Amino acid sequence: MLHIDTLLAHAGCTPDAATGALVAPPVLSSTFARAADGSYPGGYVYARAGNPTRAALETLLAQIEGGARAAAMASGMAAVHAVFQALHPGDHIVLPDDVYYGVRHLLDTVYARTLTYTAADLGEPGAAEAAITPETKLVWAETPSNPLLRITDLAALARLCTARGVLLAVDGTWTTPLLQRPLDLGADLVVHSLTKYMAGHSDVLGGAVVAREANDFWDRIAVFQHAAGPVLDPFSAWLTLRGLRSLRARLDVQCQSAALVAQFLDAHAAVATVHYPGLASHPGHAVAQQQMAAPGAMLSFVLHGASDAQALAGRTTVFRQATSLGGTESLIEHRASVEGTTTRAPQGLLRLSIGLEHPADLIADLEAALG
Ligand SMILES: *Cc1c(COP(=O)(O)O)cnc(C)c1O
Repeated sequence: MLHIDTLLAHAGCTPDAATGALVAPPVLSSTFARAADGSYPGGYVYARAGNPTRAALETLLAQIEGGARAAAMASGMAAVHAVFQALHPGDHIVLPDDVYYGVRHLLDTVYARTLTYTAADLGEPGAAEAAITPETKLVWAETPSNPLLRITDLAALARLCTARGVLLAVDGTWTTPLLQRPLDLGADLVVHSLTKYMAGHSDVLGGAVVAREANDFWDRIAVFQHAAGPVLDPFSAWLTLRGLRSLRARLDVQCQSAALVAQFLDAHAAVATVHYPGLASHPGHAVAQQQMAAPGAMLSFVLHGASDAQALAGRTTVFRQATSLGGTESLIEHRASVEGTTTRAPQGLLRLSIGLEHPADLIADLEAALG
């Protein structure tokens, strides 16, 4: 098999059989013509059930994650939802206590009457084990976590889940298969927000579920995609394929610049803590070095005492102040005010998504804003 880099460089570049177009155009048609005998010559019937552009993306996602199947959804949260709906009423989930805010919000609203969960510090060995009950069917992991960048040992967690007969799903949004390969480490499912690094240009909303095996649990996810229709639209699938062609190059630069920004912040007197697994002082540093190809391009930092973190974000000019991550432009975000009154993010915390600008410009921008 070819290297992931090569598969990515050719994403969406299978020539169009009809025209020879090197980059096949997105197939926007909602329906597909039948032949005189009633058959479907191209194998496609109706766009909710299947679409060639989406199928090309799904095939590539399964390949680069080392999975058997992938389903592309309308958003990262639709992909999370696709996994949760495959559980049964009364099932229990264990998840990180600093899990992506939207996951908890989904469970507290849409699933409030059907699923239960326990939030635990999954960076702590033993915490997941203590949280598993006889009703637990799924452990949900996110590493590095958001926004504290805690590291969970995925191989150890996978061993625990196997021993207890519980599924392990990993949110791979922050890492992509270039930095971390959860299925190789023993996870059953990887979930992505394609909105972030995969599409990579802050102009697509999308998500995906990738499964290690095409088993019964996968079938429930696949049926949900077809029957309920939260599918990724063809144009977004096409843009995601286009974004994936440069994923390796983007992520390499973003990770290098993030390391420089983290070192700068770590040495700055106004900064109390830097959460970045590439720093030797980070509690998850050793595990991150083992399970990640690089520490990633996300970091967060906490200002001393009563400093106004939101005001600092407002003083940056190269960093854009917005939520989301993984685009070519660097973002700074005060998580606590984005998440609202139920936030668990510290008030003094700012999260950075490092983009493709020159790192010296990013550091100068932060230096000026820190004063
Ligand atoms: C953004 C994000 C999601 C949700 O994805 P959407 O595309 O916004 O629905 C889920 N998990 C993580 C870690 C994210 O960053």
